[in-house]
Amino acid sequence: MRYRSPRNPERRVRASTRLIVLHTTEAPARSSLNKVSDRGECHYCVTESGQVYAIVDRDREAFHAGRSMWQGVEDVDKFSVGIECVGHHDKAMPAVQLAAIRDLVRELKAMYHIPDHCVVCHSHVAYGAPNKWHKFKHRGRKRCGMLFAMPSVRRQLGLTARPAYDPDLRAGRLGSADAYLRRVLYGNVDTMAATYGGAPRAAVSAAPRTPAKPAPAQKPPVRAVAKKPAPAAAPAPRPAAAPAAAPAPRSVADLKARGYVDRGTVTKERPAIKIAGGAWNSPQTYYTIRDKVIPGNRLDPAHIEKGMHVWMRK
Ligand SMILES: [Zn+2]
Repeated sequence: MRYRSPRNPERRVRASTRLIVLHTTEAPARSSLNKVSDRGECHYCVTESGQVYAIVDRDREAFHAGRSMWQGVEDVDKFSVGIECVGHHDKAMPAVQLAAIRDLVRELKAMYHIPDHCVVCHSHVAYGAPNKWHKFKHRGRKRCGMLFAMPSVRRQLGLTARPAYDPDLRAGRLGSADAYLRRVLYGNVDTMAATYGGAPRAAVSAAPRTPAKPAPAQKPPVRAVAKKPAPAAAPAPRPAAAPAAAPAPRSVADLKARGYVDRGTVTKERPAIKIAGGAWNSPQTYYTIRDKVIPGNRLDPAHIEKGMHVWMRK
């Protein structure tokens, strides 16, 4: 069965290729293939059995990333290759499928000279427009492909580095709307470690702290997939240890002593976002419940409880 997209001929050839973007279809193979083919939504689609389908020519634009930004450049479709993987953003994939993704990524990396930390998940680059919940442009519009940021999964894909931080959050171009996602992409949340084995600390290192400059427009890509992959690059250096932060407040008394005030209690009618606004997930906003104190950036949105007190500075 062929799923080459009927949209293929009308798509422009990309001027450059700087990223490989991994997605999860969140649907079974047949419906996933029909959808991405009809709409020309990726370059490749990899099924659970490890079959790789070519959907859109890899040097043309596929519409896979939607509203997206990386290093201040909007519309990631214009400079990336998109791979849809049949499966879910938070569920383990069969070994045969991961092996197929690994081989495909390896070929594309060699072909377009893409380093490991430029193999990202859709959730790294997607962003949301301001809405009722977030009055600012925000990262966290979706968790698509999230598992591919986890060290244990990246090891299965033969990748040693991942992005060290979000360049658009750091530059203030976007706010964060999903603290949990952020911990998966950049922190140490790895829910697949039990399935694929825990990683030695240095196995997946963060990329160098300085983001790569945008590559100049490249020569037209070679048509045939390289037979021999380029030798694996040496692992990136380990990131320097973060400087010690001031001790976090541990109690309501600590918060009061630091000039925080209780802004109210979370209820069904009055969610955290209503109380704290865009700062609901800021590290400077704190939540207290029973005797726990949780900073906003460590709060899993799925675990905001009724009765939590929201503390902010005056
Ligand atoms: Zn996606």
